[in-house]
Amino acid sequence: MKYILSVEDSLLFSSNIKKSIEANIEDTTVITAHSMSDAKKILDSKNYDFHLSLLDMNLPDAPNGEILDLINAHKIPVFVFSSMMEDKLHKQIFSKQVVDYVLKGTTTSISYLVRMVNRYIKNETTKILYVDDSKTARRFITNLLYRYNFNVLTASSGAEALEILENNLDISLVLTDFVMPEMDGIQLTREIRRTHPDWNVAIIGLSAEGDDKLSGRFLKSGGNDFIKKNFQREEFFCRIHQNINLVEHINDLHMIANNDFLTGLPNRRTFFTVGETLHENAVRQDLKAVVAMMDIDFFKNVNDTWGHKAGDDVLKEVALKLTKRCRASDIIARVGGEEFAFFGIDMNSEQAFKALNEFRTAVEEIVVMEDDDEIKPTISIGFATLDFAENFGEDLNTLVQRADEALYKAKENGRNRVEKYDEQSLLQAANN
Ligand code: GH3
Ligand code: MG
Ligand code: MG
Repeated sequence: MKYILSVEDSLLFSSNIKKSIEANIEDTTVITAHSMSDAKKILDSKNYDFHLSLLDMNLPDAPNGEILDLINAHKIPVFVFSSMMEDKLHKQIFSKQVVDYVLKGTTTSISYLVRMVNRYIKNETTKILYVDDSKTARRFITNLLYRYNFNVLTASSGAEALEILENNLDISLVLTDFVMPEMDGIQLTREIRRTHPDWNVAIIGLSAEGDDKLSGRFLKSGGNDFIKKNFQREEFFCRIHQNINLVEHINDLHMIANNDFLTGLPNRRTFFTVGETLHENAVRQDLKAVVAMMDIDFFKNVNDTWGHKAGDDVLKEVALKLTKRCRASDIIARVGGEEFAFFGIDMNSEQAFKALNEFRTAVEEIVVMEDDDEIKPTISIGFATLDFAENFGEDLNTLVQRADEALYKAKENGRNRVEKYDEQSLLQAANN
């Protein structure tokens, strides 16, 4: 739970802030104070470890922003709200340890505040790589980014930056100086873009006076945006946040497009795209592989007896069990209503049978409680192998089809079992 201290004398505004933040940002509780002396009591009680604070600069018992010094003394990051932003106040608050300010009294104040607080909390796990050959600049910008709670990595050259990127696949933004010896910001951007598309990592250039011509070239080389080095703090963070929001939105869309909504497992489409790559690699490296189809037994019964919601719960539990047993080199996906597909690399028939049987017995352990009833799902599994000793390197679709036929056999033979595709016995069965 993250505690946020709000100090605001307007009861209406204060309760709106509390409601909006708690409703929109997970795991947050807003503790409200309505005066500086209230705030002092709360802080003295030491009941909370505050993550951040939201301060009204004009309180009945602290009309000139005195609250700021109190909160600064407790080293709690500050968001300020104020009904006006005069130059003097602007200077005053940015000279202190203030993260940002929000203008009060506009219809969008609260939603802006919620976005900023949400961003601040998320930034703790948002990685920015800052590249600059100047040590002073690195220190200055890093401190600025820390103020907004970012997880900051730094590099003093393009080469170092590329190495850090390779080891940190979760970097959302690269902020780079233009003029650097050996590799400049434009060359670095080109290098990054060879492996990282702009929806994966945003790149912002920092340009000094006189770099005007460079900025155009930088954008054409794959940069997303650039900021002049004598920037205003607000512009700096707005641009950084906009670019990071964009990368995150696109990542969310990728998640939605590639994963199943209910279970979070890769979906059918992902199974076939990832499966094709795994299959190609297996063929190229002469590795054995296995494709399996799994189907929950008598699942219609679950829905008919306990309802769709119970069915969904069972699906989620089964998905979780299967994922836990799946190695990182393999893939398990939800390819249909209660059907899952598996592609396992580097295993022969016996190993596949053993591994799949473990999937089956893992599902047997599941108990979903519903109206005092125990629902105990089971799955049937059929598999086919890619094995040059046994066949000719069949393509993925053929393997899936064969696994499906073997699954049918597992159902026929009593369910809750694993069957291997076997052309001869299937032919026999068809003739009898
Ligand atoms: P079998 O052992 O032969 O596989 O029998 P079954 O009842 O599992 O097979 P059947 O194909 O007759 O029924 C599958 C059921 O799965 C029907 C459908 O309503 C249900 N189903 C499909 N997708 C979902 C879902 O997302 N949620 C829930 N609750 N049920 C689903
Ligand atoms: Mg079924
Ligand atoms: Mg089915």
